[in-house]
Amino acid sequence: MRILTLFCSLLTFCLATPAFGQRDQEWTRRFEPFRMLGNIYWVGSYDLSTYLITTPQGHILINTGVGDTAKQIAASVEKLGFRMADVKILTATHGHFDHVAGIAELKRMTKATVMVSEPEKALLESGGKSDFRFGNTASAQFAPVTVDRTFKDGEKISLGGTELTPHLHPGHTKGATSFTLEVRENNNTYRVIVANMASINPGVKVTGMPGYPTIGDDYAKTFLAQKDMKIDVWLASHASQFSMHDKYKPGDPYKPDRFVDAAGFLASVQRLEKAYLEQLAKERAK
Ligand SMILES: [Zn+2]
Repeated sequence: MRILTLFCSLLTFCLATPAFGQRDQEWTRRFEPFRMLGNIYWVGSYDLSTYLITTPQGHILINTGVGDTAKQIAASVEKLGFRMADVKILTATHGHFDHVAGIAELKRMTKATVMVSEPEKALLESGGKSDFRFGNTASAQFAPVTVDRTFKDGEKISLGGTELTPHLHPGHTKGATSFTLEVRENNNTYRVIVANMASINPGVKVTGMPGYPTIGDDYAKTFLAQKDMKIDVWLASHASQFSMHDKYKPGDPYKPDRFVDAAGFLASVQRLEKAYLEQLAKERAK
């Protein structure tokens, strides 16, 4: 909890102040890429998740870090023995700069199709300027990118035998998305979630924002949906959110069960929901 809170406030600190840079180092520190489970590989930095999902017909990248990490991501993909030219789809859990600022550069490198949820399209195409909270914060803006395709809640993304199902989990942003997929390994089928955890950035009012009047209802729906999800493996937008560095150290052997943590996911969703309900009560009491 403490770690989660620390990173949530870290995120906000970075997004909300022009003094972005110092804290950023922990986020973007180089981290050795590794195979997580089946066809899912970590190619992110120390804290900013980037998932490479490989298939015989090309690959998918979920999240692209801040702008400077694009080269690092590319180097990690190649180090694992895959080619950047084979990346066919670029997508993201949400359109804040720490997850999508590298997407324009990665699109240039790969010519991949950029796909996000319908409500997130404007955010990526405006380079963050249309964000209901950080739209006026210069340090939270990034290179805009043209979105080639959008998807709806539950509309499957298929590539080379892998099916990725997007789940719209709005609140943190209007089009925040979690993804699920099944991975078969050693006669087991693992239900994997790349979750967008519904944290609340300071300065956000859950009773309603001028640019996002339905934010409170969206958070409530997201918590309900996430508590109901049947998953085995929990991954998320930040390594800190699913305690990746407690579960894996560089050099550890490949172990498909390493990230199985349905209880951890549920507990985290419940903690975030509690924080939301407390904030809602406080705002209403004013
Ligand atoms: Zn965010």
